[in-house]
Amino acid sequence: MCDADRAVTASAEVLGTPTGRDCPVCGASAASGALRTTQWIHGSAIGEKSGTARSLSEIRHILASLSPGDDITVHVVEVCLHCRWNCLLREDRYENQTEDQLGD
Ligand SMILES: [Zn+2]
Repeated sequence: MCDADRAVTASAEVLGTPTGRDCPVCGASAASGALRTTQWIHGSAIGEKSGTARSLSEIRHILASLSPGDDITVHVVEVCLHCRWNCLLREDRYENQTEDQLGD
C-alpha cells in the first residue's frame, strides 16, 4: 500500500498530523507539513466505521463506546500531500480498556 489513493490523501489533508520530517520520496520539507500520519480504524465491532480515517480523539471516543473485550485495529499510515506517497507504518490493536493507551 505505497501508492496514491484519493481517499487516503484527502483524509490526510483533513485529519493528518504533520510528522515533522521530510518526505523520503519527493523531499517535501518538514516545514511544509506535507508528510503526515493518519489513523485508519478496522474491526467488526465498529460496523460501518470500519475502514475509515479518524482523529485520535475520535478513536478514543469509539474505543470507549465498545463493549468490554471488543477490539479495533488502528492502521497508522504515513502520507505525503505533495507527491501522494503513502505507506502503512504499523498496525496496533486496541481493546476497550483505558483511554491512556493512545499516546499523542
Ligand atoms: Zn512526497
